[in-house]
Amino acid sequence: MTASASAQTPPLPAIDFIDLKAQRRAIGPAMEEAILEVVRDGRYILGPQVGQLEQELKRFCSARHAIGCANGTDAIGLILMAMKLRPGDAVICPSFTFAATAEVVAWLGATPVFIDVDPVTYNLDPAALDTARDTAVQNGLKLRAVIAVDLFGQPADYDPIEAWCAAEGVMLIADTAQGFGSTYKGRIAGSIGDFATTSFFPAKPLGCYGDGGAVFTKHDAFVEPLRSLHIHGKGEDKYDNIRIGVNSRLDTVQAAVLLKKLEVFAAEIDARQQVAARYEAGLSDVAVTPQVLDGCVSTWAQYVIRIPAAARDGFINGLKSKGVPTAIYYPKPLHQQTAYRRFPVAGNGLPVSDRIAHEVVALPMHAYLDEATQAYIIDVARDALKAAGPKPAV
Ligand SMILES: *Cc1c(COP(=O)(O)O)cnc(C)c1O
Repeated sequence: MTASASAQTPPLPAIDFIDLKAQRRAIGPAMEEAILEVVRDGRYILGPQVGQLEQELKRFCSARHAIGCANGTDAIGLILMAMKLRPGDAVICPSFTFAATAEVVAWLGATPVFIDVDPVTYNLDPAALDTARDTAVQNGLKLRAVIAVDLFGQPADYDPIEAWCAAEGVMLIADTAQGFGSTYKGRIAGSIGDFATTSFFPAKPLGCYGDGGAVFTKHDAFVEPLRSLHIHGKGEDKYDNIRIGVNSRLDTVQAAVLLKKLEVFAAEIDARQQVAARYEAGLSDVAVTPQVLDGCVSTWAQYVIRIPAAARDGFINGLKSKGVPTAIYYPKPLHQQTAYRRFPVAGNGLPVSDRIAHEVVALPMHAYLDEATQAYIIDVARDALKAAGPKPAV
């Protein structure tokens, strides 16, 4: 290289938002071997790894039943199908979440009723459940279920939500796509609720190398319908069709990948606690940092801070110019989305969801984020926040 080239500014550090390559290196050749085994064995659809994974998932999260399926969206959809959700039925869902949570309700012609979230945890606000039920009733709908989301990895506040669902006689579905592996007062996600679902999308805390998902339930009576629905409504076999189902199987290759990843998952969740603690120490005086409820452990699917809305674009560009990737989860709450605007919102609107959507920014977060890289991210973030003004109110 010429002298002038070496005098140029050093290249930006290559920082991944979620570093899946580091995870692959940590797991080593065992992963490739597991994939090759499926390729050589040839049982690509419902091979033995799928059943093994269901057993391991059950053990991991103390669930009574686990059923693999094609993705985390189908996982919720299969439950609603098994519940025979139909037009005229309502399901309460948070508005500040990924679209899949409410999408499946609309698939079946039923109505999602959007509820606001708590400003500290960003999870469904239990205090708003009565109002959401009243909104459903005023719209002539029959409330059938509540879908609570473990947003960014933190479990929803299940004690009051469970008590409310039991008193109302409606089902509780825990969408733990982001929070699989989290714990709520000593109980682990997957075992909480009438049903729980997860997603194995690659970027989730427990992700595979493609799409995948799982349903968990404590109800024995729902196992046969769920297993049937995910294979074309099968009876004795897939050529005996006793109900209208879908094709939503978990792939054998993905099950093999997940069996390997599950071996390191608990250690990864521990490592994520350290990353979160370093961000908290480095940023809590200049930004609203995430707070986890007492007695809970988050999987830190995302590390989301809040900064003044007017400063967000500048902050994101400032980080980008220093090689630090960010993401916004979620820029627009569901009740403001074109496809969902026609559905009812609980009470007079969802002010928390509306406000925080403009303030949230997610920073790089994964189990292999080393201390030096993270110190650099924190420095760059602090620098970019200097011009931002005081942090938003909680
Ligand atoms: C990712 C996600 C889903 C959907 O999972 P897919 O596997 O992508 O279908 C559902 N709910 C939440 C909260 C998610 O984050």
